[in-house]
Amino acid sequence: MSIKSIHIHVTGIVQGVGFRPFVYGLAVRLDLRGWVRNTSAGVDIEVQGQKSNVEAFVQSLANEVPPLAKIDSVVVKDSQPDNKYLTFDIRPSTALEGAFQPISPDVALCADCEREMLDPNDRRYLYPFINCTNCGPRFTIIKDLPYDRPFTTMADFPMCDACRAEYENPLDRRFHAQPTACPDCGPFVQLRYSSSTSPSVSNIDLRLSAILKTRQLLREGKIIAVKGLGGFHLACDASNEKAVAELRRRKGRAGKPFALMFADLGSVRKYCEVNEDEAALLTGYEKPIVLLNRLDGARIAPSVAPRMDTLGAMLPYTPLHHLLFNRRDPILAAQPVPPVLVMTSGNFSEEPIAIKNEDALERLEPLADAFLLHNRDIHIRCDDSVVRVVSQKSKVKDSPTFDLQPSTLYLRRSRAYAPYPVSLPFDLKPTLAVGGELKNTFCLTRDRYAFLSQHVGDMENAEVFESFEQSVEHLSRLFRVEPQIIAHDMHPGYFTTSYAERAKSNAQRFAVQHHHAHIASCMADNKLEDRKLIGLSFDGTGYGTDGAIWGGEVLLASYADFERVAHLEYLPLPGGDSATRSPWRIAVGYARSLGLDVANLPFLESIELQAIGIVNQQVEKKLNAPLTSSMGRLFDAISSLIGIRNQVTYEAQAAIEMEVLAKKFIGEANPYPFEIEDGIIRVGEMFERVIRDVKSNLSAGLIGARFHQTVSAMAVEAGVKVREKTKINEVALSGGVWQNQVLLELTREKLLRENFVVYTHQQTPANDGGLALGQAVIANFQ
Ligand code: ZN
Ligand code: ZN
Ligand code: FE
Repeated sequence: MSIKSIHIHVTGIVQGVGFRPFVYGLAVRLDLRGWVRNTSAGVDIEVQGQKSNVEAFVQSLANEVPPLAKIDSVVVKDSQPDNKYLTFDIRPSTALEGAFQPISPDVALCADCEREMLDPNDRRYLYPFINCTNCGPRFTIIKDLPYDRPFTTMADFPMCDACRAEYENPLDRRFHAQPTACPDCGPFVQLRYSSSTSPSVSNIDLRLSAILKTRQLLREGKIIAVKGLGGFHLACDASNEKAVAELRRRKGRAGKPFALMFADLGSVRKYCEVNEDEAALLTGYEKPIVLLNRLDGARIAPSVAPRMDTLGAMLPYTPLHHLLFNRRDPILAAQPVPPVLVMTSGNFSEEPIAIKNEDALERLEPLADAFLLHNRDIHIRCDDSVVRVVSQKSKVKDSPTFDLQPSTLYLRRSRAYAPYPVSLPFDLKPTLAVGGELKNTFCLTRDRYAFLSQHVGDMENAEVFESFEQSVEHLSRLFRVEPQIIAHDMHPGYFTTSYAERAKSNAQRFAVQHHHAHIASCMADNKLEDRKLIGLSFDGTGYGTDGAIWGGEVLLASYADFERVAHLEYLPLPGGDSATRSPWRIAVGYARSLGLDVANLPFLESIELQAIGIVNQQVEKKLNAPLTSSMGRLFDAISSLIGIRNQVTYEAQAAIEMEVLAKKFIGEANPYPFEIEDGIIRVGEMFERVIRDVKSNLSAGLIGARFHQTVSAMAVEAGVKVREKTKINEVALSGGVWQNQVLLELTREKLLRENFVVYTHQQTPANDGGLALGQAVIANFQ
């Protein structure tokens, strides 16, 4: 009988996901001896036994991994241990200096835990912090690595004997489940009333009564701050218009849609269309907000998502959410609750989401009638992710026909996805890329991993800056990244730029052009090796190398370099950045600059003549009217011109509403004429025709559809022109404008018909939420 000993090193997401118990069970089953151990670089395994069993072990290791584990590499070496092992053991974790490994994102409640939580005979019956190695908080409670309880915010809760027995039993589902707890030893919830709601100080409900009371308050139309996994939510009954409108008023959020949480998939289907892929996303362990087409007659308060044909839906993901919604358990059912709740981030409009109890009680006091708190700390903020499923056409090989394939668009990649890395086909130096100014995320790289951070938000105030700095520091420590390179945007006025400049570090600084970063981000997202391709960066805003505001850019780009081969013609942005809130100013300014008269069009009926006069003067005298080639602003201008809206309350609102209206007409709409000469995409003729259509009373939907057709035709013609000169046949689409699904699909299809190879974002957002990835890669290739 031949005895064999091997040593195995595994990297990837292999900690906190039940990997060691899996290894243990496998070893015992195959009659092998040795040990397994977490290190801060992964998992080390040593096994000894019959040769055939050792081989079977290696096979199964790769093929039978637990559901949440993601293996990046398995390195097997022969080993000569000094002595024979008598047992198989799980050894204590070791920290390796400078080593690192990916961290599991937070995971929604698993089915086993849900069953136990609703079983009156289980010791965790109705316990809102139940979890196991297959579910529960991870990223948001980790203070340091290796992932062990003392390095998490669960360190404050010593385990009781019963929990410890489970925790130490390799065959138990809670073996080394770091956040494991029970009603005897773990965190608990409490409900506190806002001082404005209830002046009497002693008004606190604890544990189950807190949950029941919360259900009652929600039913009564109150607004409750609920502590979640990565921060607080503000919750209220989504069918109660008064409550939702009040929430908007208090939060200072005028038009941006609110996300909804539904009791279960069945409830979602009463309000939205849900296909198979969307259902899989809704019920998977990530539990993102999924944008779904709403059904006609869905009984949702109008203020939830004004003028939208979609709703942002998610399902309960923490045990506490489940207890808030459950209608089957007799104790809970005695206190009925609305089947759909608004669940929006707990903050004033521009601030970061609150995570600490004291902070929430202070900052959210004017927003919430009561606070459903708990005493498990959130160490790092993490907002909900937002995704959308699209059916993407892809070409069937060697045939003119198309195949429809579902694809997930990441509109915001955060909770349950971050900080899982994007793996690249090449190594990068340790790099920090600080991202952009809006929808900020940053990126840390190491070896061939790019760790794109959770959503940080819009860099608009001190609280967000602070959150950004804390997150950078925290993730750099977790991933053991000491940057040799710091990459930032070229914009001299960005907070992130000044952060990069003043950061105490010997790292080399690289300023990266915004739209080059977008294209590189799309390339890296698709794991492309360095090469030159055609980048169509259609975007809202970005600082150009000539100081103008770019955003309708046709680039020839590689990681190392880019050339601007064409762009939208420069037009003036009257009043500068502030014009982005008043699309009518853009419309008037563009028309003036193109020599077109819009004075008598209906969209200006409500605007004072004097205000219009100021805009015209700004354009004529070139006063505070910076030039822009932005595609986003072109959408704004057309939206306003055709009567959709003159003012916006959130980024891209006018364009999003145009997309909604245009969708129905897209099949019957022809593009307007436009011209591309000497690398300039001219829009004067298109404007003229749009004005004519408005005067002929064509509907905004139809004109909007023609405009969408025009933009996609511009993209294709620009691509064809570049291909004629360069013979390059690959196109990458990146920039915020590509979150417009109608435009994306239209353009993709046309490009495919022209036999281009088309790359779109697969695992990162096309908007500035994905920018840092491109910055990091570019800086490494320079
Ligand atoms: Zn579980
Ligand atoms: Zn316990
Ligand atoms: Fe951008």
